[in-house]
Amino acid sequence: MDRMMQRRADRAQQYRGRSDPETLEYENILRRDPCSYLCGCDATCTDHIMPRIEGGPDHWSNFTASCQRHNGFKGSKSLLEYLLAQLAR
Ligand SMILES: [Zn+2]
Repeated sequence: MDRMMQRRADRAQQYRGRSDPETLEYENILRRDPCSYLCGCDATCTDHIMPRIEGGPDHWSNFTASCQRHNGFKGSKSLLEYLLAQLAR
């Protein structure tokens, strides 16, 4: 594993399992929104705007509404990168 991969893994580990009460409450609110991936479905999950592997925290400011299908669908891309890639198709 190269140094950059190790740093990403360390950061992901650092943030794992640290959901505070505000974040849990915000996740409940997000589940009433439409999916952020513009599929037209209702959100049943939340997803990270900036993936954890890129250092995105488990904090409400990094969560967005997502349907079951899109939850984790974008892989290691950020939400913005994913949406821009979809528009470029
Ligand atoms: Zn969706």
